[in-house]
Amino acid sequence: MVFYKTKEEIELLRESSLLVGKTLAEVAKLIKPGVTTLQLDKIAEEFIRDNGAEPGFLGYGGFPNTLCTSVNEAVVHGVPNDKPLIDGDIVSVDCGTLMNGFYGDSAYTFEIGEVTPEIHKLLEVTKECLNKAVESAVSGNRIGDIGYAVQKHAEDNGYGVVRELVGHGLGRGLHEKPEVPNYGRRGRGLKMKEGLVIAIEPMINLGVKEVSQLEDGWTIVTKDRKPSAHFEHDVAIAKGKAEVLSTFKYIEEVLNKN
Ligand code: MG
Ligand code: MG
Repeated sequence: MVFYKTKEEIELLRESSLLVGKTLAEVAKLIKPGVTTLQLDKIAEEFIRDNGAEPGFLGYGGFPNTLCTSVNEAVVHGVPNDKPLIDGDIVSVDCGTLMNGFYGDSAYTFEIGEVTPEIHKLLEVTKECLNKAVESAVSGNRIGDIGYAVQKHAEDNGYGVVRELVGHGLGRGLHEKPEVPNYGRRGRGLKMKEGLVIAIEPMINLGVKEVSQLEDGWTIVTKDRKPSAHFEHDVAIAKGKAEVLSTFKYIEEVLNKN
């Protein structure tokens, strides 16, 4: 069933989502060649706890860490490790928080040092896909309108759209109904209305859309091992324009200083 949130509940979701944005900004301060994803994981966990919340992913379905760190061909659900990042890598850092009973869930793909123009464009287009998806997430539209917006923009640029993993409702549960696919047809699926809160998270591949899972039981990688990008926002459905509860503002303030 779909849970619709009250104004008060949406404020709590906003607080949790904002903490994710601030945590990712802490990651942004440190992320560079030579740093390991485990180091990033540690500072994220400390920052979340220092702010009176719990890591949302740690222990969720048995996941061992605070962050999902997915490097290059890893799409999502990468497990932090002690391998240093190198110049030219990209890393999707996905973070969840649980605060006052509500989850926040947001992801940003970082460039490590200098990436190729081809990879830089993949990240830009994936972020544009997210923005287009948010624009279509308004009351009266349907879930299929979101997927259509993402798929159209990604495929117009020659990229593959991951089918196996999707966005989701967000609330007292990390993954609530409805599923929010990154592909779809206009006018199909659940009609959105005020009170619905969803996490929209395009996962866009430079090459083919197909993915597989590594033997660690977590990491999802592209079948052709070409890079993949991932950005995620939490939004509350409203009339005319969705309210974005999460933010990249703090992250991009840090990145623009460097
Ligand atoms: Mg996420
Ligand atoms: Mg999510």
